[in-house]
Amino acid sequence: MKEIATIFAVLAAWTAGPAATDDPLTRPIETSRNAEWLAPAPPEKLFGNSYLVGFGGLSVVLIDTGDGLILVDGAMPQAAPAILANVRTLGFKPEDIKYILSTEPHFDHAGGLAALARDTGATVVASARGVEALRTGRLAADDPQLAYDSRFPAVERLRAMQDREILKLGNTRITAQATPGHTMGSMSWSWQSCEGRRCRSIVFASSLNPVSGEGYLYSAPTSAAIVAGFGRSHNRMRSLACDILVSAHPDNSGPGRYNDQPGACRTYAERSRKALAARLKREAAGSK
Ligand SMILES: [Zn+2]
Repeated sequence: MKEIATIFAVLAAWTAGPAATDDPLTRPIETSRNAEWLAPAPPEKLFGNSYLVGFGGLSVVLIDTGDGLILVDGAMPQAAPAILANVRTLGFKPEDIKYILSTEPHFDHAGGLAALARDTGATVVASARGVEALRTGRLAADDPQLAYDSRFPAVERLRAMQDREILKLGNTRITAQATPGHTMGSMSWSWQSCEGRRCRSIVFASSLNPVSGEGYLYSAPTSAAIVAGFGRSHNRMRSLACDILVSAHPDNSGPGRYNDQPGACRTYAERSRKALAARLKREAAGSK
């Protein structure tokens, strides 16, 4: 009897044991918002060659260029298998993903990049500042959320793109749109997608939320570059051709998974501008 119990114990340890299945690149990051951020969602066509393959609270986009696939953002480490399952559900092969574009080096949008890059062979593309942070899996020294010291799996195969630079693959040209502020490395991505003669401009916008860790002040002189960055980002976001807006956190741009109302990008910029103004006002009044 004791032997049988031991066998069961060993079996249980083997089947449930973390050692057998532990993958450092998909090891879960737990937060109080996981249920909302990673709420399962079916893959959905946006327009033409572009699809949503992410979650209820974290956007991930797939673009079929006709000569390889492109992903935008990687959500969290534990999300990578579900993203690739969504890609397969749409009839595509994960190994055809050539590039993964990153909007910001934070764990909720970049945490899954290392696993996705490893499992697909893709190169991760970001701004120069984004590449720096993705390579370390740590927050940049000037990140307003530095106090959280959050970590995510470091990315190895990286390519930096400059503001306004164009990535060409197959039938698609994606423009890097620098949108600093939330992080100085934040980058949004814009492209056109066509169905026959009908084309629509799609924007995947980085987060423009002025949120910070404890003790950070946007009104401090050391934050001047961040505040100026937000200003440039608001102007850029207002200027973009933007028939369909997908924001890194979908609830920042509307009730649905994307926003195709006229002026969606201008509304997104205005929301951020107001939030930053309110934050600066609170700081001037001595509170956050
Ligand atoms: Zn962030």
